[in-house]
Amino acid sequence: MSRPQTSHLFYQSRQRRPVLDQARGVYMWDVDGKRYLDGSSGAMVCNIGHSNPRVLEAMRKQMDKSTFGYRLHFETEPAELLAARTAALAPEGLEKVFFVSGGSEAVESAIKLARQNAIAIGQAQRYKIISREPSYHGCTLGALALTGYAPLTAPFDPMMRPMPKIPAPRAYLDGLDPDDEATGRHYADMLEAKILSEGPETILAFIVEPIGGASTGALVPPKGYMQRIREICTRYGVLLIHDEVMTGGGRTGKFFAGEHWNVDPDILVISKGFAAGYAPLGAMIAHKDIVTNVLDNGGFLHGFTYAGNPLACSAGLAVLDEIERENLCQNAAETGALLKSELKKLMDRYSIIGDVRGEGLLLAFELVEDRASLRPLAKELNAFNELVDIAYENGLIIYSRRTRGGYSGDHFLIAPPMISTPDHVAEIIEGLDLSLRQFLDRISQ
Ligand code: PLP
Repeated sequence: MSRPQTSHLFYQSRQRRPVLDQARGVYMWDVDGKRYLDGSSGAMVCNIGHSNPRVLEAMRKQMDKSTFGYRLHFETEPAELLAARTAALAPEGLEKVFFVSGGSEAVESAIKLARQNAIAIGQAQRYKIISREPSYHGCTLGALALTGYAPLTAPFDPMMRPMPKIPAPRAYLDGLDPDDEATGRHYADMLEAKILSEGPETILAFIVEPIGGASTGALVPPKGYMQRIREICTRYGVLLIHDEVMTGGGRTGKFFAGEHWNVDPDILVISKGFAAGYAPLGAMIAHKDIVTNVLDNGGFLHGFTYAGNPLACSAGLAVLDEIERENLCQNAAETGALLKSELKKLMDRYSIIGDVRGEGLLLAFELVEDRASLRPLAKELNAFNELVDIAYENGLIIYSRRTRGGYSGDHFLIAPPMISTPDHVAEIIEGLDLSLRQFLDRISQ
């Protein structure tokens, strides 16, 4: 295929990427026949692997029936079935499922449902949503106001109402022990302090990625943090929103990451792994009481044209079937534990690996100048681009971000599909080992 002169990508990218030809399982091939192991499932999306024949067949069957039914004209069987199955997987009371087409739309929906609930229960003065810094909740203006990542938000600040932020619990940077309950309390109490300083009567909700995604690089909260956050939200009548756009769907070893601590939010949002890259799909799942309040007060003033699209929902149903049939949550837990221990072994060989973290198959490592100080690598080294490019040359796709203080820390997400085997783990580690060696050679020249 000849390259088009103009790209639909509006990034100021350093280099063009190869043109994708096809993808099967954990592998992808470009049009020149080069094979890549998809070590990040795209952007932590393709949880069940690429081109699963059973999912494609289910979608083909749905395509033969209908590909669109406008939600104000028809209910559709795939949407009804998927809503019921999703609610059954969600925490108790979270029975109402609102479909959208992606993560930002899901977060926008949660923001607006929370706000309409506050109005419905006579608490219209509540409008602030507290979030964490760093965090990522989406690119639309509502979700962006909750996103704690200045390089993405700064140009739009004058267009958004500032929302309060508290620090994400990056215990490893603060020299605190994440397994000590005092650490969890230390960070969770920052939420209470923020609620009190802002005025509890003005706080609508707190939104949190239970296990961090791209923003913090698979940050697992310290012991007791999530439970205490829940207690604090309940104490002040603040809704707890779990942003499970990346974690929802089994990647961390549980279908929803909140299950790791038995903590139930009031609203949760899911997207990436929901239809796992087979169709654009997301959902907001809300407590029945919240939805009842809103419906009894004129209804939800919100909705998207593609909501509950039958083709997308048929993909979502087939993905759920696959997760259950192949026991993929358990495989994510087991293969993830193996991959994490192998990543930790790389720390013995590479002193620039400052931290390995994550849960299940949502893992990350961070590169630093030296492990003792955890000082980030010099910004000019551009590690977050360089290592990804080198890995690409070696046929391994990884995902990177730079989000540390001053935005100079480089972390890399390693999140292959949940169908990965120990052989794939070995291949990923071999590719990373080679790529890290070449990166060190390059920066020492
Ligand atoms: N929330 C989280 C935690 C995410 O990781 C993302 C995307 O990376 C989003 C929200 C936004 O999702 P989308 O890119 O589908 O709009």
